[in-house]
Amino acid sequence: MYSYRESIVIAEFECPICLDYMAPPIHQCAMGHTFCVTCFDKFSRCPTCRSPKGVSRSFALERIHSSLLFPCKYRQEGCEAKVRGCDLNTHHEICDYAKCKCPFSNGMNCKWMGPRSTTIKHCKQDHPSNFHSGNHIILKCPMFDHLGLQSAFYFTIIQAYGEHFEFCWSLSETGRMKWAVYFMGSPKERKRYNYQISIGKPYGEFEPIVMTTNCEEIVDEVELFESKNCLMTHYDSVNKRCNKNGDLHYEIRVIDKAFQDVKNNNFA
Ligand SMILES: [Zn+2]
Ligand SMILES: [Zn+2]
Ligand SMILES: [Zn+2]
Ligand SMILES: [Zn+2]
Repeated sequence: MYSYRESIVIAEFECPICLDYMAPPIHQCAMGHTFCVTCFDKFSRCPTCRSPKGVSRSFALERIHSSLLFPCKYRQEGCEAKVRGCDLNTHHEICDYAKCKCPFSNGMNCKWMGPRSTTIKHCKQDHPSNFHSGNHIILKCPMFDHLGLQSAFYFTIIQAYGEHFEFCWSLSETGRMKWAVYFMGSPKERKRYNYQISIGKPYGEFEPIVMTTNCEEIVDEVELFESKNCLMTHYDSVNKRCNKNGDLHYEIRVIDKAFQDVKNNNFA
C-alpha cells in the first residue's frame, strides 16, 4: 500500500487522457501539460489547452519517475509488484502475469494466450509430443531424406535443471539449416547454460556434426535464428548422416555451466 504522500506523487504521473502512468519519454505541450507517449502521438495539439505541442520533454518528471515505485501494469491480472520506474520495463518483460502467446502459435497455429506463468503447463497439456524432459534428449526425424530442398521447421520444449528451454531447427528452400536452443527462464539466469547439438548417429559412416554454443534468451517466434548463437549446417551434409531408412538421429545436450565449472575444478 502507498502512503498518502506517495499516492499523491504517483497520481501526478497519470496521463490525463488514458489514465495510465506516464513513463519516459514524457512529452509536454507549450504550456507544460504532460502526456504519455501514446496519447501525445495521437493528437496534433494539446488535448487539454489546445496549445501546440512542445519540443522539449519534462526531464524533471522523467528523473522523478525513475526513482519512484509504480504498480506493475498487470495489476488487474493479479500482479502485486511495486517496481522502481527505471526497472519497470524489465519487470513487465518477465512478469508472470503478463499475457503471452503460445510459443508454438505460428508453427502449430495455436491460438492460446495466457499469463506467462502458465505457458509451460499449456505446452505440456496441449502439445505433449513437443515436450521433452532431461538434459540429454535424443530425437529422430523420420524420413528426413524426403524433405529435400523445401522449407521445414521443428521445435520442442525441453525441461532440464528445473528450467525450460525451446529447441528448434529450420530448413530453408536453399538447403540452409539452422539449429538453436533458447532459454525460457528468468533473464538473470540466461548466461548459465550452453547447449550442444550432435547430428547423426555415433559410430555411423560419417562422424556426427557436433556444435556447442550459448543458450540465448527466448525470442518471439518470428525472430528465431536471428542471433549469432544459432548453429548452421547444410541439408546435404545433414542428409548424409541419415540411417538407411532415411531417418535422422540427433541429440541435444543442455549444459549447466556452473555445474561444469565445479566438476572441472574438482578433477583439475
Ligand atoms: Zn495516455
Ligand atoms: Zn496544454
Ligand atoms: Zn508484474
Ligand atoms: Zn499452444
